[in-house]
Amino acid sequence: MSSPPTVMSSARVVVVGAGLAGLAAASTLVQAGFNNVQVLEAMSKPGGRVNTTRPFGPDIIELGANWIHGQKGNPLFDLAKQHGLLSEGTSATAMCLPASVTPRDYFFNEGGRQLPPEDVERVCSLFSKLTSRAFDNKLEKRYHSESLGRYLDEAFAASPLASSVKDAAKIFEWCKRSECTDEASSSLYEVSALQISEYTALPGDFFNCLGPGGYQAVADVLLRSLPPGVLLCDRQVTRIQWGREGEAHPVRVLCAGGQEFKADHVIVTASLGFLKERASALFEPTLPDAKMRAIERLGFGTVDKIFLDFGERFWPEDCAGIQLVWEEGPEDQGVYRLMSEGDAWKATWYKKICGFDIVARHPTVLCGWITGREAQYMETLGEKEVGEVCVRLLRSFTGWQVPEPKQVLLSTWWSNPYVKGSYTFIPHGVSGVREHKALAAPLPPAATHTGAKPLQVLFAGEATHVKFYTTTHGAYITGIREAQRLIDLYVDL
Ligand SMILES: Cc1cc2nc3c(=O)[nH]c(=O)nc-3n(C[C@H](O)[C@H](O)[C@H](O)COP(=O)(O)OP(=O)(O)OC[C@H]3O[C@@H](n4cnc5c(N)ncnc54)[C@H](O)[C@@H]3O)c2cc1C
Repeated sequence: MSSPPTVMSSARVVVVGAGLAGLAAASTLVQAGFNNVQVLEAMSKPGGRVNTTRPFGPDIIELGANWIHGQKGNPLFDLAKQHGLLSEGTSATAMCLPASVTPRDYFFNEGGRQLPPEDVERVCSLFSKLTSRAFDNKLEKRYHSESLGRYLDEAFAASPLASSVKDAAKIFEWCKRSECTDEASSSLYEVSALQISEYTALPGDFFNCLGPGGYQAVADVLLRSLPPGVLLCDRQVTRIQWGREGEAHPVRVLCAGGQEFKADHVIVTASLGFLKERASALFEPTLPDAKMRAIERLGFGTVDKIFLDFGERFWPEDCAGIQLVWEEGPEDQGVYRLMSEGDAWKATWYKKICGFDIVARHPTVLCGWITGREAQYMETLGEKEVGEVCVRLLRSFTGWQVPEPKQVLLSTWWSNPYVKGSYTFIPHGVSGVREHKALAAPLPPAATHTGAKPLQVLFAGEATHVKFYTTTHGAYITGIREAQRLIDLYVDL
């Protein structure tokens, strides 16, 4: 193998963020022969939205990413497989968190009645059929300018099932609430019906589970490829000065506490949520209008998990989840509109919890899912209050003897100042392709006639992928994409 060009090995690259995008970028650069790579991570440990913890004993709890979505063409799945990190059987059926509705989910209504599984199955199948039509880009033209919520309401109302199955509308509302988890949205009325087809699901099982090391084990593979000293944690980047003409290195990266790094290139992998809040202050000069518009227009919502360890199992052995069907849910169109005014929705924030699923390797733990502004509000309440509300819900919906939880653990992705949410979605009225591309575009571009040094500021991270946004493999691929952009620059010199 020939050695890399000297300019490449001596080029200084700073990577902001040690999530999967940042780690993939750094690892690719180091392997290509870049000897001057520095990863700066604001938090005290790497991983970002990959956050594998062990709060209830030796077995893992994933506060962030849980599954690898898709197999064929998924380099993260290949990496996990190659290193023996997948759970045996690999799929959701191999006893990891239930990925979607299974026949083993128990649905209860507010009156404490369990809904007939066959009714639930029929409504959920219809929901799945209707959403697939949107994902597969097969929507009738009249829905092209609609929100996903409105399209689903209209399509559901036109279905004979709406009147032939008891409680169909309420179960359908549950489906919409559950879909908010995939879309990281407060409501499906803010998600574009047409643009959702831009997201591309890779072939093969959609819910691949990791083994006992969890997602952290995947991040560890990348971390092991970095020489000592490349990763610096507790380094919050506060300012990125670029376009510094006449300087040996056109980029200066400043950290809280005063440390600074001169560089030829910086790869920014901070989440879209962080950029929404900080981009205007972070960059000097400020980013071009198209980039700022993309940051503003793309959606970045919150999805949180509520873990309850009861110390004993009070649900039947065949039960994979307890799902809550409200008489009138937060996703009901009229109610949602009404409650959008003012703060009234805060009084019923818990209506946004879809239900409580069993948790892999933890026979006495349940995990509740909550999204959007209600999740953000939940984060302000604290474990005790949230735990009490959850127990009240579980008791009143099931009528079972539900003990007090021994421990409660909440994810707090919105409150995390370096993430500010969970993942990206395309809002109603926004062109995803255009905005994702604008977000990913490097500054200045490789071919410029101004004489400015090319590729000073590059952007990676899940939000910069046109097809795989929201996912870990999207993040990983964008890290490699930006590293490769730099490799190509130096190889072409
Ligand atoms: C609850 C939840 C569940 C999820 N489930 C799944 C799933 O099952 N499957 C899936 O594929 N995806 C899932 N995801 C999404 C997935 O976790 C992300 O898409 C992916 O991890 C994003 O990686 P990233 O590198 O783009 O960003 P991040 O992981 O956000 O990494 C960015 C890093 O930059 C750091 N940073 C930010 N600002 C600064 C700064 N100023 N200075 C220094 N460092 C900074 C941050 O601290 C962070 O470590 C989930 C996410 C959440 C929150």
